[in-house]
Amino acid sequence: MPSLQDPLLVVTDLDGSLLDHHTYSWQAAAGWLEKLKAHRIPVVICSSKTSAEIKTLQTGMGLEGAPFIAENGALLHAGALGQGQQPDEPVTTLLGQDYAAIREALETLRRSHGFKFFGFGDVNEQLIGEWTGLAPHDALLAQQRQASEALIWRDSDERMTEFVQELEARSLALIQGGRFYHVLSKGSNKGAAVRWLLSLFRRNDGRPWQSLGLGDGPNDVLMLQAVDYAVIIRGYSKTPLDLGPSQKNVYRTAAYGPEGWTEGLEHFITSDGLE
Ligand SMILES: [Mg+2]
Repeated sequence: MPSLQDPLLVVTDLDGSLLDHHTYSWQAAAGWLEKLKAHRIPVVICSSKTSAEIKTLQTGMGLEGAPFIAENGALLHAGALGQGQQPDEPVTTLLGQDYAAIREALETLRRSHGFKFFGFGDVNEQLIGEWTGLAPHDALLAQQRQASEALIWRDSDERMTEFVQELEARSLALIQGGRFYHVLSKGSNKGAAVRWLLSLFRRNDGRPWQSLGLGDGPNDVLMLQAVDYAVIIRGYSKTPLDLGPSQKNVYRTAAYGPEGWTEGLEHFITSDGLE
């Protein structure tokens, strides 16, 4: 089990994990966020949210400058690490197709096949606010997409199968999130992004960085398989997450959201009596 003195990366989902699913509050996790900061353990947000949304949340949580993974792994920000230590490494890395290319593919598919869906690029911030419960200003941040589209599906399950096949033919993939479906480049996901970031940390200072991940939804499975210690936060989805036999260190929390987040860290991180 890792201790607060070890080189450890904490990678976390937001909605339903660090943030309460209903209220978006993280207050129940504030104590551990402070403790991790005091021990210089980076907390890497790994979310379907946009860079603009994540940067705003980082500021509120005192995590400014930390690396983060946005838009379900389609976008990586190495933060101060990338800036200071790896001059050749871009601070922001876009994996795969950009937002304009994805929108163009979606609009073409809608015209040619008549699929019924609404993407964030089809509507205004008021409607996104209604869908998400976000204030109009925050909904605008959710609309600043760079490498994936979030959408609401308004067609049948059969048409969904056809839609996924058409996306695949265009090197795109569909991921199911907590509230929305997400269309992004095939091969981009939270797990691939976490592996990339871990290798960057290990290359940077040669230390044997370990990782602890926390998530609650099906779009967190690849991320939780990519880390050394996986915390499955109790969620609202019907089927429990299955990480498969290769992930040995798994803890399922009894509590939801940020309370579960705290419970997971308490379980895995030993304090060594040096706090
Ligand atoms: Mg979630």
